[in-house]
Amino acid sequence: MRFHKVELFFFLLIALAGFGGLFAWAAYSAASGGLVVGGGDAAAKFAMMSAVLTGLSVVCGATLVLPTLSRGLSERGTLEKMTESLSVRSLSLEHAAVTDGLTGVYNRRYFDDALTEYISAFSSIGKPIGMVILDLDHFKTVNDTHGHDIGDEVLRRVAECLRMFIRYHDVVARLGGEEFAILSPNISESQLFNLSDRIRQAVSEIAVRNGNVTLKVTVSAGLAIWDGEESGEDLYRRADKQLYQAKRQGRNRVCAA
Ligand code: GH3
Ligand code: MG
Ligand code: MG
Repeated sequence: MRFHKVELFFFLLIALAGFGGLFAWAAYSAASGGLVVGGGDAAAKFAMMSAVLTGLSVVCGATLVLPTLSRGLSERGTLEKMTESLSVRSLSLEHAAVTDGLTGVYNRRYFDDALTEYISAFSSIGKPIGMVILDLDHFKTVNDTHGHDIGDEVLRRVAECLRMFIRYHDVVARLGGEEFAILSPNISESQLFNLSDRIRQAVSEIAVRNGNVTLKVTVSAGLAIWDGEESGEDLYRRADKQLYQAKRQGRNRVCAA
């Protein structure tokens, strides 16, 4: 068995105090003619030993036990603080791993995981899952004309707009570049179409200032409802096909299968 330093000091303190008490008892016994014989001389010696041991136990307590205890307590406080800050850090790392750094919405990795989970959960209860893919129109021209920073600001404003429209269980993500997606469980095709069209309208009303120029953007969207059997990739492919149709038909519109 291994003892901690403070425990050893504590045993020493107990032993010193114990022996001090024993000598005090012997002094009393010798002086009062009890079990210990030797009379006044012996009583004085025992009393002296008791005083020395009591003094030593006070010194041991003050110089060894107390500092070791308080050092241990302050180390424990530091460790607790470190553990706390590490868990806050790991939470923020977890958050960073699933979030798009520019816009604050979820990233593709999170979107793919959410899609897989929704599909596996919804296959047993037969509820619909809707997917919308949105792509900004002529975004390259925005960057070329107004610069990359203004382009970034547009992406942030569009993400903010998407967040305003979604419900609690919906997932909005930036899949990459100027492409966003919404995963919306338990929604009909007409409801999803209306939602996408309201988003399209809201994006067209976003006004980004660049000096004395006010910049406007539009978005095209394609949507699909999960057929209950297909994989996540197939659902994505169908929604993407509709996005392509929306682009082909002139942009700033929503297409559904
Ligand atoms: P379309 O209407 O057909 O979608 O045309 P588009 O110009 O939007 O599409 P294209 O794929 O030609 O260009 C996408 C542009 O998005 C090109 C790239 O510079 C820009 N882009 C991608 N990621 C970012 C980003 O993080 N910030 C900014 N500012 N621009 C980005
Ligand atoms: Mg585009
Ligand atoms: Mg694109």
